[in-house]
Amino acid sequence: KKLGIALVGLGRYSTNQLAPALQETEHCYLAGIVTGTPSKAEEWKRKYNIPEKNIYNYETYDQIADNPDIDIIYIVLPNGMHAEYTVRGAKAKKHMISEKPMATSVADCQRMINACKENNVKLSIGYRLHFEPHHQRVMELGQKQLYGPVQRIEAADSFVFQGNPDRWRLDKELAGGGPLMDLGIYCVQGAVYTMGQAPVAVTAKFGEVTRPEFFDEVEQSISWQMEFPGGAVADCSTSYNENKNLLYGKAEKGWWRLQPSYAYGGIKGETSEGPMNIKNVNQQARQMDDFARCILENKQTRVPGEMGLRDVRILEAIYEAARTGKRVEIKA
Ligand code: NAD
Repeated sequence: KKLGIALVGLGRYSTNQLAPALQETEHCYLAGIVTGTPSKAEEWKRKYNIPEKNIYNYETYDQIADNPDIDIIYIVLPNGMHAEYTVRGAKAKKHMISEKPMATSVADCQRMINACKENNVKLSIGYRLHFEPHHQRVMELGQKQLYGPVQRIEAADSFVFQGNPDRWRLDKELAGGGPLMDLGIYCVQGAVYTMGQAPVAVTAKFGEVTRPEFFDEVEQSISWQMEFPGGAVADCSTSYNENKNLLYGKAEKGWWRLQPSYAYGGIKGETSEGPMNIKNVNQQARQMDDFARCILENKQTRVPGEMGLRDVRILEAIYEAARTGKRVEIKA
């Protein structure tokens, strides 16, 4: 059986990545949509052959509970809305995927986890890179210490913010923060899955604001350092005002570098031994297929809500470190 997925929020990620990926999946398919824009509903209905009864808006969303075609709900809304729509989806007894960052506070992440537990549904986060073979190779190199213990990581994810149409990314309420919430989370993830463990402390510094017309609520850039048990250090940065895309690791007997690293495709990898020669794949198709298989076979997802919460806790610590100028310890 193929499981039916409903996408909630038909913005750019749903339109350009998830819906096309769902044409390539084996264990799930695009069964429904939730949108506040009637013209998009019409367009998607035609393009993807979605039956009228599987089309919802934000008022009718909860009625999805009565729809046996929908097994999984995928929340692709602004960050500050993930919690509410995930909790409501769980109450409708549907398995849930929330996009990253899981939510804009640890408390909201916990509410999402609780709601999914109480309603006996699975919860996963849209961490597509766990299904990407270059990143899987980095996990192996780092976690299995194939070049010895990891000593240093460098991670950067930045792009030049162009303004409309994604103004919500500048709104503290809806975004939870600036590039750290949106892009820096990839650096946190990259460092943590290189190490196979979470950092114990962070220090951080906000960058200069050179475009105050955009960055009056959220940071324009931030750099931070994470300390891991055993002494390895990750130097990370993220900005809405430059272009950078890197995950680098240095171990005792070798190094590796993904650059670009966090893109949907075209990832290039190299180690101290030479090019990685790994093929790019459809990350989102793999990610959604894996979750569908977890449901069908009643297995744990490798990107669960608990991982999303752990990362939001790290992001909160980074903000606190930048605000106070102090080293902030992170307790599990
Ligand atoms: P977007 O701005 O293109 O789309 C957001 C959608 O939410 C729009 O369709 C908009 O109409 C809808 N929406 C509903 N209520 C809204 C409100 N009150 N304010 C603003 N928009 C509202 O954004 P996006 O780039 O598609 O991002 C959506 C989510 O997906 C974010 O959480 C983002 O972090 C995540 N994302 C993940 C990846 C990834 O690679 N995993 C990539 C891009 C985005």
